[in-house]
Amino acid sequence: MSNKFLNTSSFESSESVLPLHDSVSPALAEEKFRLLVESVRDYGIFLIDKQGFIESWNIGAQRIKGYSADEAIGKHFSIFYTSEDKIRRHPQYELEIAEKVGKYEEEGWRVRKDGTKFWSHIVITALRDKRGELVGFAKVTRDLTERKNAEEQLKLSEERARKMFESVKDYAMITLNCDGTVATWNEGARRIKGYEAKEIVGKHFSLFYPDQDIQMGKCEYELKEAIETGRLEDEGWRIRKDGTRFWASVAITAIRDNDGTVIAFSQVTRDMTDRKRADDLLKMSYSNLEKRIDERTNQLMSTNIKLQDAIQVRDEFLSIASHELRTPLTPLKLQIQRLLKNIQNKSLSNMSEKSLEKIMSSCDTSISRLSSLIDNLLDVSRINMGKLNLNVETFDLKEMALELIERHKLEISNSDTEVTIIAKDPIWGSFDRLRVEQVFTNLLTNALKYGNRKPVRIEVYEEMGWVHLSFHDRGLGIAPNDLERVFERFERLHAEDTVGGLGLGLYITRQIIEAHGGTIKADSSKEWGTVFQVKMPLNFKGQGL
Ligand code: ADP
Repeated sequence: MSNKFLNTSSFESSESVLPLHDSVSPALAEEKFRLLVESVRDYGIFLIDKQGFIESWNIGAQRIKGYSADEAIGKHFSIFYTSEDKIRRHPQYELEIAEKVGKYEEEGWRVRKDGTKFWSHIVITALRDKRGELVGFAKVTRDLTERKNAEEQLKLSEERARKMFESVKDYAMITLNCDGTVATWNEGARRIKGYEAKEIVGKHFSLFYPDQDIQMGKCEYELKEAIETGRLEDEGWRIRKDGTRFWASVAITAIRDNDGTVIAFSQVTRDMTDRKRADDLLKMSYSNLEKRIDERTNQLMSTNIKLQDAIQVRDEFLSIASHELRTPLTPLKLQIQRLLKNIQNKSLSNMSEKSLEKIMSSCDTSISRLSSLIDNLLDVSRINMGKLNLNVETFDLKEMALELIERHKLEISNSDTEVTIIAKDPIWGSFDRLRVEQVFTNLLTNALKYGNRKPVRIEVYEEMGWVHLSFHDRGLGIAPNDLERVFERFERLHAEDTVGGLGLGLYITRQIIEAHGGTIKADSSKEWGTVFQVKMPLNFKGQGL
């Protein structure tokens, strides 16, 4: 391979004068240098003459351009140029510049022997002899295709990323400078937040936060957190340009340079308002459902309690009713057995009229008691079935009251109670006589039963079209909490006392009074005793219950 190469002793370059060590002989140094140049693989180093024809060739040039030394030497160096470059006489231009200024340097596309292109960095240096005459050029070529491709690739992917970043519509993707001012803005950000890029770039990102968050220092906190942990995620209300709120899912990431210094932040925001609304609705319907289940459970529990109470009341009633019904039966049975015995012994005629009357009277009392109990039970069932019919007639209530006192004279004297009735003028009105008598009797009987032998005062008077009945005793009294309860069915406050009763009298009494369009209420105090006050319209026109 004939390879003429650079002779440093015969050429001199204005830019590159090759240094030689004093102790090395010039011939040896030249040889070493030739070997060095020839063996360099990463650089194509060759000489061209003044016209541009190749004079020498190294291994690097062969590796980069694909030509062997034999193929290259003697050819014009423009064979490495693209046809466009050749048309515009670029190779000649390079030599002209190198000749003029000593050196020409550029990066550009060159062509290998096989026609493929490579990106090269070239330096053409003008070589001159001692007299300064141009003798040729040295050309050093580097293949930078890989770097170029990597750069191209990077540029391409940056371009793609930028385009993608800008065109994404569903996400607001923005970058912030370190001070929190907006640096870049994408289509999604415009769509979600309403600002055009030119309106918002340079403004502080706190514009997107509600006042309360700003005052609490949320913006500073989020950037600080993104710096410390690399990334911050948050969900919360943000503000659009038009002032409306949207529920945002936000991720802020700190962007660092190679040294790890934070140089910016990226912020990706999604508008999650629809999801938030759906979640809230779901939560609301869940909590409504829970509330309804709770209410229903409570209802069921209270119904259950009521049911158990009712069962207990019923059982107590059955036990009281049996006891109450048995009470008058026992003396009745005894008296009848006594009579029967006398009849069997044929000694009936021996009995005095007085003792016979006593037996019959005792039987009569027992039977009256029994029928009154049974009447009460029948009344309750009538009331329950809504069949408490009233037979209204006009009569004097004062006269009725006095007559009833007379009728209960024996009972009054048996109870050892002083009963006073105040009824001044006749009180004419329309009522069901038997039912009103029942009311009067119930209240009188209670006053005697629970009056503790203390005086009882009854008052009957008329006022503005209403008749008033009041029964006042100074007996056992009623606790404030029980004043309403006494009107319920089967309620007995003094059950443990020996006083008999089914706990139905006041219930029936109230039903009768209300059927007449009236009211009854109880009042009681330790100082002045118990008062039941009845008020009914004088001329009742209704139909009963
Ligand atoms: P009862 O047949 O038990 O008398 P009532 O319905 O007439 O039934 O009365 C209900 C309960 O109210 C009584 O058991 C008694 O405890 C109480 N009560 C009624 N009247 C009086 C009163 N004048 N003083 C005190 N307690 C009374």
